[in-house]
Amino acid sequence: MGRLEGKNCIVTGAAGGIGLETCILFAREGANVLLSDISASALERAIAKIKEIVPEAKKIETKISDVSKEADVKAMVEHLDSWGGVDVLFNNAGIMHADDADAIDTPEKIWDLTQAINVKGVWFGSKYAVLSFRKHGKKRASVINTASVVALVGSATPQLAYTASKGAVMAITRELAICHAREGFRFNSLCPAPLNTPLLQDWLGDDVVKRQRREVHFPMGRFGEAIEQAQAVLFLASDESGFVNGTDFVVDGGMTKCYITPE
Ligand code: NAD
Repeated sequence: MGRLEGKNCIVTGAAGGIGLETCILFAREGANVLLSDISASALERAIAKIKEIVPEAKKIETKISDVSKEADVKAMVEHLDSWGGVDVLFNNAGIMHADDADAIDTPEKIWDLTQAINVKGVWFGSKYAVLSFRKHGKKRASVINTASVVALVGSATPQLAYTASKGAVMAITRELAICHAREGFRFNSLCPAPLNTPLLQDWLGDDVVKRQRREVHFPMGRFGEAIEQAQAVLFLASDESGFVNGTDFVVDGGMTKCYITPE
């Protein structure tokens, strides 16, 4: 307990999946947490859930923001000025659009929408986080950006706009990690494998073939769980990871290291 005691944290895409599990852990570990998401109703459900399962939670607030809108992201980060500034930002919001496809069939508007949320959102978040760290004289701070294993390995079930966006997240993160290292601001990307969250599971639906096409590639024989990603985010957010900077932190059950899966 207390691994984030006294830290002010923002989580984007906080209303579900990895984001919500992370907020629960952050609250349990003594952090003040701002839950940010585009969906007001989902945010209300999320905060109610956290208050129920972590009654000892410190400051927990919500802020509706669309990470693709610079003014929203600025207001989100500046919301923490009255808390003493941000210490940890988890740039986690992202989309994987149903119409995202291969080089031939991906509509340009889906390409642009995906880059606007997944890439520009991470840029805006990082920009205002750095400004806040400096404004509040932070000597150590952590930004975690959610990428994906598709930034590391190619997939024959393509979602080209999504893959491009996650490759960009990884490259941006690496560069920011180097640029700001002497200021004590760490940047790491999280690379989850396919998970049991609505983002993927709603898209797979009841399509058994589509599901098995993915499941066969898991050495451990299953999709990952959001909580398993959240545990990694907690480590990257805390001072325990003080010398971890610029990594592509892979949480994938061995998927990207595997040639042939066990029978
Ligand atoms: P999720 O769909 O459960 O949650 C994503 C959240 O982001 C939702 O609450 C949604 O309302 C919010 N959101 C969407 N657009 C937004 C915007 N413009 N501004 C602010 N919030 C917005 O997804 P998840 O599975 O928890 O995914 C979280 C992150 O992990 C995403 O970046 C995703 O690309 C990445 N990821 C997911 C998987 C997977 O299999 N689920 C695998 C690798 C990476």
